[in-house]
Amino acid sequence: MEEFRSVRGFHDIFGEELERFNAVRQTVRRILELYNFEEIILPVVEYAEVFQRSIGEATDIVQKEMFVFPDKKGRMLALRPEGTAGVVRAFIQNRMFALKPYTKLFYEGPMFRYERPQAGRYRQFHQIGGEVFGSLDPLVDAEVISIAHKVVKELKIEAVVEVNSIGCKVCRPAYREALVQYLEQVAGHLCEDCIDRKDRNPLRVLDCKVPTCKSAVKDAPKMVDFLCEECREHYQKLLEYLNIMGIPYVENPNLVRGLDYYTKTVFEVVSRELGITIIAGGRYDYLVEEMGGVPTPAVGFAVGVERVAMLVKELPQRQPLYMVIPLGEDTVSYALKVCELLREKGKRVELSYKRAGLKKQLELANKLKADYAVIVGEDEMREESVSIKNLHTGEQVKLSLKELFSHVL
Ligand SMILES: [Zn+2]
Ligand SMILES: [Zn+2]
Repeated sequence: MEEFRSVRGFHDIFGEELERFNAVRQTVRRILELYNFEEIILPVVEYAEVFQRSIGEATDIVQKEMFVFPDKKGRMLALRPEGTAGVVRAFIQNRMFALKPYTKLFYEGPMFRYERPQAGRYRQFHQIGGEVFGSLDPLVDAEVISIAHKVVKELKIEAVVEVNSIGCKVCRPAYREALVQYLEQVAGHLCEDCIDRKDRNPLRVLDCKVPTCKSAVKDAPKMVDFLCEECREHYQKLLEYLNIMGIPYVENPNLVRGLDYYTKTVFEVVSRELGITIIAGGRYDYLVEEMGGVPTPAVGFAVGVERVAMLVKELPQRQPLYMVIPLGEDTVSYALKVCELLREKGKRVELSYKRAGLKKQLELANKLKADYAVIVGEDEMREESVSIKNLHTGEQVKLSLKELFSHVL
């Protein structure tokens, strides 16, 4: 029979890739803890409308990339393409606004987008994201950006923080109009997608990756020149706070993000090595209201776990591995006891399942990348001792169980 293959764009994560993946997860989770975020575990499936309403009908995500399917009653469901919409839905449904003046939630897990698979891009990918509900203060925006900055700093990834403001309901319409006018003039240089975008979602033209579009929008009007008083002040304060926290950033007037729900602050963390966005986020002050909740300002961000993991160079050291090697059937029960004692002391232990001579078992220990072989033969069993061999140096000592714990542990 032909063997099964995973679905295109869906892949298994294990081995060294998983170590890098988990290094990212653990770092982000630990940093979120420092900022007092609480975890929420969200469903992977929502009504498709949750995403249509929040991300926006005119976005690539909703139009082309969502996995949508009917349930048995014909209601349209979707695999979540991102995390924010679900958190907002949960925030409203569980009346979280009534529990605390501010709510800081984080989630992690798989997201799904029907995109062309490429290196580091899968149809099932993973994000860890945080959302802060309840404050209009640019301090929140600054703190969220500082989380992103800490993540790359701790993982020793070279990256640039890019920031922009895309205004609000008051100031964006005038900008949009000016932008559309400009885009009409340069329409001859725009790609097919952007010709379509310029009427439906003109801001998206600004972050098109097609070179002709990139140069066509070089002299486009900039949102920062159109900001209303409130948005301007918010943006200035944000930059001031970033300076105070010592977070280097670049202002990128063409940064808009691909989702409709953002207002005021948007930001991205871009890898210097790969030139791709690895962390992104922004403020979304109208989304809770637009999804049927009590008007609540909010700011959020998400880390692309696979993308960051690709850039992790230093893996956290694992605990040394002890391989317990019984010599002969009679010593197995003693070996089991030694294993348990070591594990009780918090050691990482592998018990050899191979019934063979010492040489064969030491070969096995090397293959399993053990750091120490703990050899238990009949002598050791009688004396309540073990012979412990450092597999890196070859040094071997015999220790009583008591000595073993005071010596090694
Ligand atoms: Zn404004
Ligand atoms: Zn384009």
